[in-house]
Amino acid sequence: MSNMKYCQGTRCHTYDTKDRKKGSKDNKRNETRKRSSFYYGNGNFCSLNCQTDWFNTHGDNAINHFGRVEQPIILTEENAWNRRYNYHKWHGDNTDHLSDYIEVNTITREERDCEWTKNN
Ligand SMILES: [Zn+2]
Repeated sequence: MSNMKYCQGTRCHTYDTKDRKKGSKDNKRNETRKRSSFYYGNGNFCSLNCQTDWFNTHGDNAINHFGRVEQPIILTEENAWNRRYNYHKWHGDNTDHLSDYIEVNTITREERDCEWTKNN
């Protein structure tokens, strides 16, 4: 199958499971897992173990390559709005006029209407 892909884990082949075993008799070996999809690490790893193995092998290089955080990343009032379920809607009567979602500010705890769901 053409859409099969390999787990990116650097030690995947070393974990001894039935599905990794290939070949027969004089040709026995364990191979990296190959599947159409994986659940871990954005679909790149067959398990959390394999994701951790990859990070242990390549993590430092990857962070240095893409840019190490050298000072705090700061959340301020202006960029702290998050969409949440509107709990007011599920507690109380006559709440049909309320929208399903609101926005809550992580810093100030302020709440406001969620612009893009207001008229839906
Ligand atoms: Zn794996």
